[in-house]
Amino acid sequence: MQTGTEIMEKNKIIRFNDDKGISDHLLHRLLDKSRKYGLSDVIPFSVSDIVVAQWVHLKCRYGCSQYNTNWCCPPATPSPDKVQKILDEYSTALLLAGTRKCPDFYRNNKRKRAMQVKCWKGTVSLERMLFLAGYYKAFSLVGECCPLCQNCSYPEDCQFPQEKRPSVESFSIDVIGTLCNVGIETAVAANVGDSFSYYAIILLE
Ligand code: SF4
Repeated sequence: MQTGTEIMEKNKIIRFNDDKGISDHLLHRLLDKSRKYGLSDVIPFSVSDIVVAQWVHLKCRYGCSQYNTNWCCPPATPSPDKVQKILDEYSTALLLAGTRKCPDFYRNNKRKRAMQVKCWKGTVSLERMLFLAGYYKAFSLVGECCPLCQNCSYPEDCQFPQEKRPSVESFSIDVIGTLCNVGIETAVAANVGDSFSYYAIILLE
């Protein structure tokens, strides 16, 4: 007996609630698209593996220059308690990952921003693709703060509200703890010449 909502995609029935929560066919399509945006992996995992921690919020609040300056960062984003309630409404997530060598990582310059914009747009574009495939609750959490405008208009109206999404960090998600639960080991890029990895998450039913 089939359970869960079903949709038709290219003559193939995809159940929303199968083992991975997503079909191999759709996963390949997402992967193809993600590579155009500098993302190399799309990994399905359970939302129960996402670690939400108060200390992440503390790090946003104290020590980050973006606090109270961007629509995608605290305090404009939900508090950790609210985040947990939001996550309870989802079951599956996709981890989008990319790795790059970038000596500009710790600098705030045009090259770094161009890369962030690409990744941001790619994540929102995959969310749209999932929505059109029937995952009507799909919602992206993007890496770092929103780079779409050189200077965020916060607290005035957002310039691109359709692409505005909270960052993973602003959602009080412990990225390293979550990666650990998913079975991915990662290290902090400690030197300018080191490769660094970047991550985004798309929440799904
Ligand atoms: S699109 Fe522009 S105004 Fe809106 S959150 Fe991003 S940087 Fe801020």
